[in-house]
Amino acid sequence: MLDIAFIRSNPEIIKEGIRKKRMPMDVDELLSVDEELRKTRAEVESLRADRNRVSKDIPKLMGEERDQAVELVKNVKDRMAQAEPRLKELEERFDRLMLMVPNPPLDMVPEGDSDDDNVEVRRFGEPTQFAFPPKDHLELAEGLGILDMPRAVKISGARMYFLKNEGALLEFALFRFALDLLVSKGFQPMIVPQIVRRDAMIGTGFFPLGEEDTFFIEKDQLYLVGTSEVPLVSYHMDEILNEKELPKHYCGYSSCFRREAGSYGRDTRGFYRLHQFNKVEQIAICVNDPEVSMKEHYLLLGNSEELMRSLGLPHRVALACGAEIGQGQVLKHEIETWMPSRNTYSETHSCSSLHEFQARRLRLRWRGKNGKTHYCHTLNNTAIASPRIFIPILENFQNEDGSVTIPEVLRPYMNGMERIEPKS
Ligand code: AMP
Repeated sequence: MLDIAFIRSNPEIIKEGIRKKRMPMDVDELLSVDEELRKTRAEVESLRADRNRVSKDIPKLMGEERDQAVELVKNVKDRMAQAEPRLKELEERFDRLMLMVPNPPLDMVPEGDSDDDNVEVRRFGEPTQFAFPPKDHLELAEGLGILDMPRAVKISGARMYFLKNEGALLEFALFRFALDLLVSKGFQPMIVPQIVRRDAMIGTGFFPLGEEDTFFIEKDQLYLVGTSEVPLVSYHMDEILNEKELPKHYCGYSSCFRREAGSYGRDTRGFYRLHQFNKVEQIAICVNDPEVSMKEHYLLLGNSEELMRSLGLPHRVALACGAEIGQGQVLKHEIETWMPSRNTYSETHSCSSLHEFQARRLRLRWRGKNGKTHYCHTLNNTAIASPRIFIPILENFQNEDGSVTIPEVLRPYMNGMERIEPKS
């Protein structure tokens, strides 16, 4: 959420942000509701003051004076009966519109309409060349006996999977490797609640716009998280942190549940787009100084690049264009990893800065040395999301016999195993 005072004095900045993000939002509607709300609030307050003042005097009055005062209070009450519901309605409309206002992206964010317009910043490695006809990750996973999709579909429907045998162990190895690296850099590891209240979804900015993409447990009015960013950033909801404690660095492990509502018919084959996956996520909470949070952004990005270099996966870092940036984000980098079956680099990580957007919604503040409080800045980045990361691992590290070489850094977590061998 943004500061309404900022929106009132800078409507052009907001409009430009909306244009660059290609989001539908009418700021003029918000500003006119805001103006009417302020007028109506002032009117209701003045009516309440009149009613209280005159009502207090009535017991002291007699005769005609008393009748006039009673009449006046009645008249004020009639006007309040009209103004108060109007005030409530305007407050609700205002709150709804405020939750829709996008955070304007930074100037360095490139213009663009889709991920084709993301701008490459750097590359690591080169697209893998094969001396044999390569298989795609589904064929490989089936040959290795590490995947069962048909049974998962029978039990749970489309976009679900069983990861089995060395596949299950490889996933744990990836997460443990990522956690060890982040913990060595001072990140606090967390296993987080995966079912949350509405406040946390609104507070982190996933609602109202992302509501369609979220699994809802109606009986309990609770939601399944699509990322551990939700509980991790909400962890300090309603708190005032001390300047000395900042920055906070957390890395959280969770399953992630996504309805993928807008993706009907897209990426239906294999591990790319699923309803459930697992992820280690990095979070930073820092003071609201854009220079400090920019440093944090590159720190989170650097950690994921280090992970990907250690795994030996060819990838590129790209600056996401305006249309690819979410409502709350001011800046986003993606790590896109080479996926031979897609014959392109595809997203495996996204690193986002949100400035005060989430902190305002969560009432998450910090107190400086002079005692003043400010909203924090929040940031997040994927460390490892699986099984999407299996696509580049299986496909880039496959051998002609259908076996897959395990990245060296993961072998200590796999009892020294060097390859996953085909089962048939
Ligand atoms: P996000 O939280 O949307 O930035 O996604 C973080 C990472 O999670 C992505 O870069 C992917 O690696 C992975 N991911 C996102 N959505 C899915 C999905 N539906 N299925 C599998 N992996 C996903």
